[in-house]
Amino acid sequence: MRTDVLGVEFDNVTMDEALRRAEQLIQERRAAYVVTPNPEIVMLCRENESAHRAVSGADLVLPDGIGIIYGARLLGTPMKEKVPGVDFASNLIAKLGKSGGSIYLLGAKPGIAECAAQNLLEKNPGLRVVGTHDGYFTDDAPIAAEINAAKPDFLLVCLGAPKQELFMEKWHGRLDVGLMAGLGGCMDVYAGVVKRAPEIWQKLGLEWFYRLCREPQRFGRMLCLPRFLALTATGRRKNDANT
Ligand code: UDP
Repeated sequence: MRTDVLGVEFDNVTMDEALRRAEQLIQERRAAYVVTPNPEIVMLCRENESAHRAVSGADLVLPDGIGIIYGARLLGTPMKEKVPGVDFASNLIAKLGKSGGSIYLLGAKPGIAECAAQNLLEKNPGLRVVGTHDGYFTDDAPIAAEINAAKPDFLLVCLGAPKQELFMEKWHGRLDVGLMAGLGGCMDVYAGVVKRAPEIWQKLGLEWFYRLCREPQRFGRMLCLPRFLALTATGRRKNDANT
């Protein structure tokens, strides 16, 4: 079942349900794709038609953070739980590690994907990393050829929004991969160059604030958050008025 948050249709799933669906999609091996929108991406989709189309075309649309959960609640259509992209990918990689599955890491600055690969292999000894490439390219055709030769089960696409969503929309069904997911800054987290908030901050729904404190340059980008919440609150009043 999907839940509409300001025009983006989210899959109302728990982490376990998302992982089961992802494993199914890997089995089907039709280069399906997962997106993990946060409020910033939802607001981008309202202004950018091609970003909206790319997000809507995904096989799985996961509520990346607490902002989406609050928004859905304000709209009167609460969702089960947040499914952060970074945790979703870590859990899926752990499962692939146990079954000898493979990943390809695409994105971030040169050298970062290789560091991420090393850290992921240390954590998941059974995992196979079949390729890496940085995210600063102009022609994606040679990269697609490299990915096809590597045939990963799971392709992590960490190019930032909407570049990663547009890349996946273009290549879905055309690459020899099980599943791809657009995961923003995850590669930097796996490489250890960006630290995640301590668990207690995550549990309190304050990961965004922690990130803002550590990366104050994000302040401009986060200005869309109050507007996002105001629009969801207004949406609720409209829904109530229509019933
Ligand atoms: N990035 C990239 N290619 C680009 C632009 C960005 O690989 O052309 C990478 C960037 O280095 C960073 C990630 O994409 O690792 C985007 O991170 P951001 O923090 O913006 O994503 P978020 O986690 O907020 O979605």
